[in-house]
Amino acid sequence: MNENQRPAPMFLADAMGLDFLNSVATPMDTEVEWIASGNDLLDWLEQSKLVPEQDLKAVRDNAGPGELDSIATQAKSLREWFRTFVIKHKGQTMSSAALRELEPLNKLLARDEGYEQIIAAEDETMSGLKMAELRRWRSPETLLLPIAKAMADLVCKEDFTYVKACEGHACTLMFLDKTRGHARRWCSMAICGNRAKQAAHRSRSRG
Ligand SMILES: [Zn+2]
Repeated sequence: MNENQRPAPMFLADAMGLDFLNSVATPMDTEVEWIASGNDLLDWLEQSKLVPEQDLKAVRDNAGPGELDSIATQAKSLREWFRTFVIKHKGQTMSSAALRELEPLNKLLARDEGYEQIIAAEDETMSGLKMAELRRWRSPETLLLPIAKAMADLVCKEDFTYVKACEGHACTLMFLDKTRGHARRWCSMAICGNRAKQAAHRSRSRG
């Protein structure tokens, strides 16, 4: 499927670390890869709002030929490594026993060049000022860091008990169930929920 026929990337997981896993999916009948090239990666990062637009532009302008494509390849292997981790741990409470497995992620996070700055606050704060987390973008590799951070946030701050795989037939989408009763079963009603409803209806009217 080329990028013109491709639907917009999906952000339905309620956790950016899982949305990144969902950047390859089979929403209809064909598999869609949203990170097939370096340009794709930049687009996904823009749509996810993980990287400010002007920073993406600077990275795009300064990258050497092929450099972004190779980062996209790295992003995909990071994604598939994390998928294995998430599938292993979903539905259970996370514990410090998983720390060893997270070593590749920690190695990546160690490369971050984040820093803080005082900026004017648009919202009401006592001083009219606030701290903003910024990041130096010295190399295109830095593009992996907000993704790594989103993964780390999922692991450290969210309850893995509620990380679920969509129950849709052949659907590979994952999400964090933040509903009150934790009864979410589908990636979305539009994709898998309605299909399941129709299938149930068909089998009821047959029976
Ligand atoms: Zn689904």
